[in-house]
Amino acid sequence: MNRKIKKATTHVIQNEGLIFEKSSPGKKGYKLPELDVPEVNPSQVLGNAARADLGNMPEVSEIEIIRHFTRISTWNYGVDTGLYPLGSCTMKYNPRINEIVARLDGLANAHPYQPEKVSQGALLILQALRKALMEICGMEAITLQPAAGAHGELTGILLVRAYLQSQGNPRKKILIPDSAHGTNPATAAIAGYEVENLKSNAHGMVDIPSLEAQMNEDVAALMVTNPNTVGLFEQEIHKVAEIVHRKGGLVYMDGANMNALVGKVRPGDFGIDVMHLNLHKTFSTPHGGGGPGSGPVACKKIMEPFLPIPVVVTKKDGTLGFDYDRPQSIGRVRAFYGNFGMHVRALAYIMANGRDGLVQTTEDAVLNANYIRKKLDGVYELPYSTPSMHEVVFSDHKQTAKGIKTGDIAKRLIDYGFHPYTVSFPMIVHGALMIEPTESESLEEMDLFIDAMKNIAEECENTPEVVLSAPHTTRIGRLDETRAARQPILRWKPQAQSAKGD
Ligand SMILES: *Cc1c(COP(=O)(O)O)cnc(C)c1O
Repeated sequence: MNRKIKKATTHVIQNEGLIFEKSSPGKKGYKLPELDVPEVNPSQVLGNAARADLGNMPEVSEIEIIRHFTRISTWNYGVDTGLYPLGSCTMKYNPRINEIVARLDGLANAHPYQPEKVSQGALLILQALRKALMEICGMEAITLQPAAGAHGELTGILLVRAYLQSQGNPRKKILIPDSAHGTNPATAAIAGYEVENLKSNAHGMVDIPSLEAQMNEDVAALMVTNPNTVGLFEQEIHKVAEIVHRKGGLVYMDGANMNALVGKVRPGDFGIDVMHLNLHKTFSTPHGGGGPGSGPVACKKIMEPFLPIPVVVTKKDGTLGFDYDRPQSIGRVRAFYGNFGMHVRALAYIMANGRDGLVQTTEDAVLNANYIRKKLDGVYELPYSTPSMHEVVFSDHKQTAKGIKTGDIAKRLIDYGFHPYTVSFPMIVHGALMIEPTESESLEEMDLFIDAMKNIAEECENTPEVVLSAPHTTRIGRLDETRAARQPILRWKPQAQSAKGD
């Protein structure tokens, strides 16, 4: 191992077999009380659905099963373990206070069918979050229902479609810059639109002459991400919006990168008509692992009549309630009111920070990305000279001479004790290394990361084989990723059976 590695020199590597492999006949992890009712043959109750033979079930003791699952639970790398620089994902720290608040009995056990009069606290939370997010976005209406960013995109584009149809002006196309996240074209296509690609210019931004040439009365909307996926602020966003509006189109903003803007500028003020937020990115609710997300959609007044039902309103008697009587609504996009637990966490985060805290967060996120950019400039190639916002994208151009690609560098980073950055995205940068430290990181942790990245660059020069065969310190070495994706083996079978190829 390289002596210069500072972050992690050795890992505790306890490998672990499958629970089936630990099994020995007759062991049990439970003890049931003696049966004091007549025994029934399962097939009498379940008929053909009853299984006489349960196949191979692991037989282990209680401590064996506890240790097995406890050990494998420590294998995950998370933001609670160290820097998680996965660009585009905003893997920021989720303060524990959010969790405490979301677990309060009255909130965690609230039932969606509970009458409005005993749900005033929960309704107040929804109302307070809506107001805070509208203020942050510079928008006049909002729905909290969508369960993820991509789901918010679909909701937003359905609002655009409903609005244009109500104007007797249905259109068929959506323009999307080539730097966009893959969910944007997928959303437009699922909503029934033709997708038209818009080129980026040499600065990595929307190319104004191309937009002028492509914008016409067939275009319902432009979907733009700002800052865009290269981490650059669309400096001519006013002009972009004006070109789209002049031809009667609307501007949708993918707000997944709001971590760079909160408290500094408001999309509603720079010409955006409708946008989504990723509460699980910008507003510090847990992220990933298939857990619930939340993708509220904020819009201008003109789209308010089309918002999903129900909408939280203040009733005549001053109490809060849900309004379902909205004939122009696009309908529901999610059961009940969205992922309420995420709303509680996001509001806790916003209130704990306050206005000045949110501004500081934004400034720190941008400062951290630019610190890493400055320290690694020249070590890795920077494809655009435009200043970065909350994330920085390098390319592997300098390393490809030795046959090393971004994916190899990312694998080597694991040996230094870090989660990899985002590999090969965005696609407009060939061999991209996309790094987003977020505001959560201390100078010390970022310096360790920078140190690791510099060391790897040296290794690329001097000992490329070490990088090409990384990772070396993990339980499992480099996988054949294509095969793992195409021929996954997801079920354990006893050897005799798997030999038969069943
Ligand atoms: C994360 C992300 C999305 C999708 O959000 P999900 O919550 O994962 O559906 C869309 N656009 C951008 C730019 C993103 O970073």
